Amino acid sequence: MISAAQQIRLVAPADGVAPVSSVVDDTLFFRKPEAKLRCFVEGGSWRSLPALGGVDYELDPRADYDLILLPSDADPFAIGRLLGQANSPAPVIISRYETLGARADLVLWDWSAQSLSTAILSVMPVVTRVSELPRKPLGPDRNGLSALALAYTRDCSLAPLLRPDDPAVVAYPLLSGVSNARDILEELADAGLLRRRFFERLHICQHCDSSRLHAREVCVKCHSSHLTEQSLIHHYECGYQAVQTSFEADNAYICPKCRRELRHYGVDYDKPGKVMCCNACGDTMTEPEVEFLCLDCHRSTSGDHASFRDWYEYDLLADGIVAVKSGRLPTADSVDDAGRGRTLRDFRLLVTHSVSVAKRTGRPLCAARLTVDTTDLANKIGQRGAVSVCEMLRDVAVQSLREQDIAATLGDTVLVCMPETDEAAGKVAADHIQRAIFAAVRPKLKMTVEIFSVPQIDQFLKTVWQ
Ligand SMILES: [Zn+2]
Ligand SMILES: [Zn+2]
Ligand SMILES: [Zn+2]
Repeated sequence: MISAAQQIRLVAPADGVAPVSSVVDDTLFFRKPEAKLRCFVEGGSWRSLPALGGVDYELDPRADYDLILLPSDADPFAIGRLLGQANSPAPVIISRYETLGARADLVLWDWSAQSLSTAILSVMPVVTRVSELPRKPLGPDRNGLSALALAYTRDCSLAPLLRPDDPAVVAYPLLSGVSNARDILEELADAGLLRRRFFERLHICQHCDSSRLHAREVCVKCHSSHLTEQSLIHHYECGYQAVQTSFEADNAYICPKCRRELRHYGVDYDKPGKVMCCNACGDTMTEPEVEFLCLDCHRSTSGDHASFRDWYEYDLLADGIVAVKSGRLPTADSVDDAGRGRTLRDFRLLVTHSVSVAKRTGRPLCAARLTVDTTDLANKIGQRGAVSVCEMLRDVAVQSLREQDIAATLGDTVLVCMPETDEAAGKVAADHIQRAIFAAVRPKLKMTVEIFSVPQIDQFLKTVWQ
């Protein structure tokens, strides 16, 4: 995003930059001529902004807006609160400062009329992409949907960064201001909406859960880190062996046991190795212990007992895109549905089991996927209407299932796994579901029905539903 900002600084002073209105009003952005771009500006800073044609400044954080402008200080937590209130799942942000990291779509230094309109124009493709998504629903799925929507509209992964100013030491800049970003991302990955890529393993303080730990070697007896490495000396004649310092006398080595002088290395004595000596308690040891000192609570955690946390980067999966476009997380679908429509995870487990039974026993098994053409539907009745039609469709589909069928519904898709059913019978059952949907749902839907054989289901489980 910084590169975009730099580009703006170059472009802005040039003559002949189009005012926002003339281009925004153009069909390039599919906006109606009377529709103005609504820019939310926090606090009183809108007074310092230039008036731009085609742009309205919005001051109510709960209003519908297209863009957030942060011409002054941007505290990530205040922004987190603001984004929590927003109806849009992934508002576009233009900020003066770089404090928001990757969450700012564009960092802008020069807030003159010309520079600001160029900046707004450059983020318009993302604004349009975001505006095509359903608004955020109320309830516990808001943050999860926002995370998916950010990855989808910005076409990027949800990547972590090392952050020494945070006790967890890892942060997700795109989820700036969301306090439990990791929990949200892990839930989405468990639900099959995001794919994990390993980032780093960090140890944890057993007292305060911080990962700001300093690793060091300590004395096995008194746990002091004041250790010195010393050579061992072995006196051949009497067989005595001890650290070098105990042999040192004026200008010679004297054996502390037999009091003879050691003159020649390899003849009188040798140095068989090194040991650690504790300067606090005098103990010697071949292997000191590893211990973590917590920089937050100042207490120690033994290396043997320290637990760790693995951190991941997350990529959006096909099911995640379906969830973003439908404005619903699949796990929420089935909770109220007496177990017939299931969470995607349960579904996957049951289908995996059915596949292994079918392979073992040779009994028939097939699966069906019914997919609604949501673009066609949204064109007919609008985005919000399309979401509620998809909800209704899911209910109808689940009611039309047979006793033995296993189903999951997901955005615009109904998945049905049919044990004891060959592909021909599966087609009949899927047609039955489709007819029930056509009978119950208006307008007439465009819908594709696909039937999968056992090897295809197997393949499907491996690829799509990972
Ligand atoms: Zn000796
Ligand atoms: Zn010690
Ligand atoms: Zn601690």
